[in-house]
Amino acid sequence: MSDLITIALAKGRILKDTLPLLNQAGIEPYDDLEKSRKLIFKTNHENINLVLIRSADVPTYVQYGAADIGVAGKDVLLEHGGEGLYEWVDLKIAPCKLMTAGFADKPLPSGRLKVATKYTEITRQYFLQQGRQVELIKLYGSMELAPIVGLADMIVDLVDTGNTLKANGLVPKEFIMDISSRLIINRASLKMKNQAIKQVVEKIEQAVEAA
Ligand code: AMP
Repeated sequence: MSDLITIALAKGRILKDTLPLLNQAGIEPYDDLEKSRKLIFKTNHENINLVLIRSADVPTYVQYGAADIGVAGKDVLLEHGGEGLYEWVDLKIAPCKLMTAGFADKPLPSGRLKVATKYTEITRQYFLQQGRQVELIKLYGSMELAPIVGLADMIVDLVDTGNTLKANGLVPKEFIMDISSRLIINRASLKMKNQAIKQVVEKIEQAVEAA
């Protein structure tokens, strides 16, 4: 019998793009992942299970081998650091940009800028490379509120359509990087369960190429 393979999937936008890819790869869960409240799902492959978790937790599950394979945004991978896992392939799904954003015409203060973000590691690196001194304010969501209530001068967030910024009177400003989701693999799993992992990964790679 083939080794049991657990794939960690990120809830939300990434899941929407992951499900068609899995389907194309011939991996089909029995439940509707977008509707179910379950966290673990069996599939049409006896040896492949899916777990559904918050996107920021996917690298951690894969790092510790609680999942063998995962689908995670590049943003989340950079924040995590990538310890214990391989970033295997760019799935080219859930594309967006990491940007700074603020008010269109409000001049920035001359002193140290206050920047609110969930992505403190990437943001620290970005401003460091530019030699700009900033004060980072760690938030866990709804970053758009920070400039409005005076908590920060600007934010760093993912931008897709730009609608969220617009709805809050903000505009995208500096481009930091392109983001998409990646297939990640636990380092030990790739050695210990090599054949089973390779089988699953090849199916997904073919689906990416066909997309
Ligand atoms: P939008 O209004 O389409 O520009 O989307 C912006 C909001 O959706 C922000 O709150 C982002 O953090 C989030 N977002 C956009 N794209 C992604 C993505 N690919 N993965 C996760 N979150 C995203």
